[in-house]
Amino acid sequence: MPVAADSGFGLDNLPYGVDDSSVLVAVGDAVLDLTACARAVRSPYAELFAAPSLDALLAAGPATWAAVRAEITTWLTDASYRSTVEPFLGPRDDARLRLPFTVGDYVDFYASEQHATNLGHILRPGEPALRPNWHHLPVGYHGRSGTVVVSGTPVVRPQGQRGAGDFGPTRRLDVEVEVGFVVGAPSRHGNPVATGDFAAHVFGVCLVNDWSARDIQAWEYQPLGPFLGKSFATSVSPWVVPLAALSAARAPVGSAGRDLAPYLREAEPWGLDLALELRRNGEVLSRPPYREMFWSPAQMLAHMTVNGASVRTGDLFASGTVSGADRSQWGSLIELSGNTEFLADGDEIVIGGSAPSATGGRLSLGEVRGVVTPAAAVPRG
Ligand code: CA
Repeated sequence: MPVAADSGFGLDNLPYGVDDSSVLVAVGDAVLDLTACARAVRSPYAELFAAPSLDALLAAGPATWAAVRAEITTWLTDASYRSTVEPFLGPRDDARLRLPFTVGDYVDFYASEQHATNLGHILRPGEPALRPNWHHLPVGYHGRSGTVVVSGTPVVRPQGQRGAGDFGPTRRLDVEVEVGFVVGAPSRHGNPVATGDFAAHVFGVCLVNDWSARDIQAWEYQPLGPFLGKSFATSVSPWVVPLAALSAARAPVGSAGRDLAPYLREAEPWGLDLALELRRNGEVLSRPPYREMFWSPAQMLAHMTVNGASVRTGDLFASGTVSGADRSQWGSLIELSGNTEFLADGDEIVIGGSAPSATGGRLSLGEVRGVVTPAAAVPRG
């Protein structure tokens, strides 16, 4: 099937999403209904697609992921399939995309040294920007999986305690440009996952906006970390790009060559050269470079499981805010504005992303979009 060279959704990408009834794959300006197509060609994988969720495909594991990708590629390139496949293609703009998988546990890391440094200066002026642990382990916290929402879902301004005796809608609603990693094959409880086994468990990548209420966060976060300032909503892009599409994006991370605990060393780099973009009401605010992260997602997975904790199909872990060395590359408003300017009701935030493809062009990670809506009525006891 012909695809424009600059579409970002060429045959080198083939990200997966879901609508109300089926798993879809994006190709060019179209989506392919994989359930209908697989049944028409009598594919053995049809039942992996026949739900409004990637869950069955995620659980099937890396050998099946590779076989399915190869089969879909054949459907879209072998002329003998054309008349069979074409009826199941529809316009990508018309697809009613849903949250692509059942989110299990959700963990958010803090893996950008620039972001952690910027936040340290803002939140703890006069103290060292980074805590003593920061270069030794990927700092993270457990978030709320039940409020992970798909791109396009409105984000209601949260309310809460902004200080002692100060309750109300947040005045400091912020965004965080992040990359998310979707676990497919589970690990066994009690068995740490090695950095080299990252691709045996992680299926793919999505874009994440970790909406943050900075006033609520600043009042509540010590000593146990982020809670209500983060848990009201986390938005994800509707397309999950498989790791198989990102081979040309792999790059070393900032921790490469450091004297790390053995379980955090990487034989093969799992940093990713992803170009991200933050837009508010159509205006580009910054272009965070994911390649500048200090910790890779393989190190995050190894750290998350080193104590024997397992990961399950549908678990989502995110990188933390992506910020590069230059001010034009910072991934949150608190950094960009020096803690002075935040979101208004009605503001629309879009995070986009792309990666180098194995064929020399760029492939798109799609986008994650959200509009801020006014706070709900104040509850009374
Ligand atoms: Ca975050």
